[in-house]
Amino acid sequence: MATINNNYMKLPGSYLFAEIARRVAAYKEAHPEADIIRLGIGDVTQPLPQVCIEAMHKAVDEMAHKETFRGYGPEQGYAFLTEAILKNNYESRGIHFDTDEIFVSDGSKSDCGNIQEIFGTDNRIAITDPVYPVYLDTNVMAGRTGELQDDGRFAGVTYLPCTAENNFQPELPKEKVDIIYLCCPNNPTGTTLTREELTKWVNYAKENESVILFDAAYAAYITEPDIPVTIYEIEGARDVAIEFRSFSKTAGFTGTRCGYTIVPKTVKGRAADGSLVSFNPLWNRRHTTKFNGTAYIIQRGAAAIYTPEGQKQVKELVSYYMENARIIREGLNEIGLSAYGGVNAPYIWLKTPNNMPSWDFFDKLLHEVNIVGTPGVGFGPCGEGYFRLTSFGDRQNTIRAVDRMKNTLRF
Ligand code: PLP
Repeated sequence: MATINNNYMKLPGSYLFAEIARRVAAYKEAHPEADIIRLGIGDVTQPLPQVCIEAMHKAVDEMAHKETFRGYGPEQGYAFLTEAILKNNYESRGIHFDTDEIFVSDGSKSDCGNIQEIFGTDNRIAITDPVYPVYLDTNVMAGRTGELQDDGRFAGVTYLPCTAENNFQPELPKEKVDIIYLCCPNNPTGTTLTREELTKWVNYAKENESVILFDAAYAAYITEPDIPVTIYEIEGARDVAIEFRSFSKTAGFTGTRCGYTIVPKTVKGRAADGSLVSFNPLWNRRHTTKFNGTAYIIQRGAAAIYTPEGQKQVKELVSYYMENARIIREGLNEIGLSAYGGVNAPYIWLKTPNNMPSWDFFDKLLHEVNIVGTPGVGFGPCGEGYFRLTSFGDRQNTIRAVDRMKNTLRF
């Protein structure tokens, strides 16, 4: 009989969102009239920028004619998109990559989940706590961890606590780690790493021959000038870092799907014989073997954001959500709650009052003001006592939610 990949049995199941749905459904059944506002979602609510729609319509029409029809495209992405990305997001900052160092995909989740395949299973990984769960779960599936322990952590993984006490800046690990996942701006905490902090990590990676997997899915939300928009702004990063970017939150592509990964040829690992091997051809091999390219129509839509009009429309979209973030953050401060993030990210990470457990705070919000958020403990043990609200709702609901909290919540 076929056997299973037993590593999957180590995973506790996606308890977080299932449990949220269960509690909301139970409340709705008992209170059918309740007008529930969801500030827990990580999905966007506003339509795609008009430039993307127009470019995609045009691309659909091309598909209708033999002369302009497209079948399989290059797995790594069409040149019209990769060149536009490199020019606008990197060359504009004085950072040069060749076109074979960028890989267009169907989004960052796939990329930051799949990237671990080109690393040996004996690598030790470091993740922040709390964390976007994809980094950890994909390594559990690959057998790069031990079992889940009573403290909610997997054996064999280095956890980097990020709490208000350390200003959400992870400390360098005491032990040597090989792969470091950093997410900046961060989901779930909404906080960022400064240039100085990021330099520390790049230097650590250089000294320890580690690789940084840098998830910049929310780079478009950075408003403060001293926060690096790409890790390659840091000297030496192109020797140690792989960067993931996404059109999902930048331009509302969560349902349309497009992202990309930069794998500089200078990022290397050791082969079994001790020789140094670049990760770039390995990722190219993996990508071309297991992926057949992002749809032409979608890539045309994505490329449209790099036109002057596209840049304007994307800025408006991001500003819309960031205004929601401001409304939530300031509202929480007014009722005396400590709120982090929301300045360079669409997430607000609040400290629950009097160290109330995250799930108790979830119930309080649901029952007293009919608002749904995400309990921080769902992102890792250090998320206990925190709670995530997102600014991806529409303006009216965001204002109503904050008013409800201000008028009703008492601690
Ligand atoms: N990385 C982080 C930190 C995210 O929060 C998300 C989505 O929520 C992703 C990656 C995935 O983005 P995509 O829609 O491009 O797969």
